[in-house]
Amino acid sequence: MDIEERLQDVKGKIAKAEKYARRPAGSATLVAVSKTFDADAIRPVIAAGQRVFGENRVQESQGKWLELKAETADIELHLIGPLQSNKAADAIALFDVIETVDREKIARALAEEMGKQGKAPKLYVQVNTGLEPQKAGIAPKETAAFVEFCRKDLGLSIEGLMCIPPAEENPGPHFALLAKLAKECGLEKLSIGMSGDFETAVEFGATSVRVGSAIFGAR
Ligand SMILES: *Cc1c(COP(=O)(O)O)cnc(C)c1O
Repeated sequence: MDIEERLQDVKGKIAKAEKYARRPAGSATLVAVSKTFDADAIRPVIAAGQRVFGENRVQESQGKWLELKAETADIELHLIGPLQSNKAADAIALFDVIETVDREKIARALAEEMGKQGKAPKLYVQVNTGLEPQKAGIAPKETAAFVEFCRKDLGLSIEGLMCIPPAEENPGPHFALLAKLAKECGLEKLSIGMSGDFETAVEFGATSVRVGSAIFGAR
């Protein structure tokens, strides 16, 4: 399959999973994860109609997306990798959704930059559902308090939660935990599922799935 066929294949599988889960068609958005691929590799995917993309590094994204966004007006770019506060200004300037808000310091830096730039990307809180020491994200039991802090103390509007389950575990329980936390916090958006488990994620209520290698090929 070429890249357009792989894109259509993934979209077909999402549609099938939505139907199987008795969810409305189109209720799970495909975020095409283009990290490590350059502008020339991404253009055919944009040409095939894909508009929502994910990247995990701010600097790498600037190199290609300033150009690609200038070419196509309605791109929605998601930051799905860890964010350092010294990159907050660049992240606010480039991204439409930041999925990796996971600590007070970064939330404060984002709030300050949003004020300065008069720009308000949508924000998700990343939860470390597996409590993995090497992985970013707030602990599940601290999630509700952190969301409250973002809302009340910083005036940030949080739209949803995101998680990356431990690679070697069954993702279902992690997706279920994230869905439960989102419900408790009154959040509607759930960013779960990657190339290996996006159909499962749709069954667990994903409002967006982040799929890279199944579209772009191995990195
Ligand atoms: C790279 C990445 C993905 C996509 O992974 P694939 O297995 O290639 O689909 C999804 N989410 C995050 C946070 C990533 O860093």
